[in-house]
Amino acid sequence: MPELPEVELLCRRLGERCAGRTVDRLDLASFAALKTFDPPLKSLVGGRFEECHRRGKFICIRLGELASPGSEWLVIHLARGGWVKWRDKLTTAPVKVGRGPLAMRVGFSEGDGFDVTEMGHEKRLAIWTAHSPTDIESVATLGPEPLDADFTEERFGAILGAEKADLKHALSRQSVIAGVGNAYSDEALHAARLSPFKPASKLSAEEVCRLYSSLIGVLREAVKRSEELDLDQLKDGKRGGMRVHGRTGEACPICGDVVREVSFATRSLQYCATCQTGGKPLADRRLSRLLK
Ligand SMILES: [Zn+2]
Repeated sequence: MPELPEVELLCRRLGERCAGRTVDRLDLASFAALKTFDPPLKSLVGGRFEECHRRGKFICIRLGELASPGSEWLVIHLARGGWVKWRDKLTTAPVKVGRGPLAMRVGFSEGDGFDVTEMGHEKRLAIWTAHSPTDIESVATLGPEPLDADFTEERFGAILGAEKADLKHALSRQSVIAGVGNAYSDEALHAARLSPFKPASKLSAEEVCRLYSSLIGVLREAVKRSEELDLDQLKDGKRGGMRVHGRTGEACPICGDVVREVSFATRSLQYCATCQTGGKPLADRRLSRLLK
């Protein structure tokens, strides 16, 4: 799933490529993906691409020079299997509805454009039209942006202190902190040498400090690494920077212990027992159930 660093760079690259272009086509291939009907998607055709910015894991595109009220927003959440693919030359053929990975095609009068796609069976990609991104509930309820200047260690400490969940869940819940998901929460916890299951409110001041700098460091590093990549390389570029996430069975680059996994119904977390849990493997509920 693309998280803060990937969506950030996606927005920057889209912003560079699309600036000043005029939307010629907005073809929906997955009707289920569109969550709003006001303003109608078709009413955005003819709009000028004004800006593209990230909020959490949402891509927010402002289209201007439209009839009243002048500009509208197209907001996209890529979910787990979504991506944006730039097309130098778009085919003029109509899109095939409800088949294949294509969710929406955005075409410009210059003949180029981009496809919003979603791989896999789990169709969760979402597209909204809005007068403002904050009209969308899941955007309005997002927590603070961890890379913003006002996201201080004190603020982070206060957020964790008020949490009932464990660190893994607190860090990856969007209403707590925006943009951090399964991958970067694994990475931040590994860098901070903290157990994913430690209750968020039970951290000492020193642990809050460590987790804060690890989280910010991991995100900044990932944004920096992605800056050198083009749109098409971003997706694969993410994995290269991971120390434990998605690396079950490989060696921890810090201590050499094997990277372990805890599985949940639809996802899993990775961690290093030596670095994070005092050498004690965490119970994998799925595995324990299978063994019974
Ligand atoms: Zn380790």
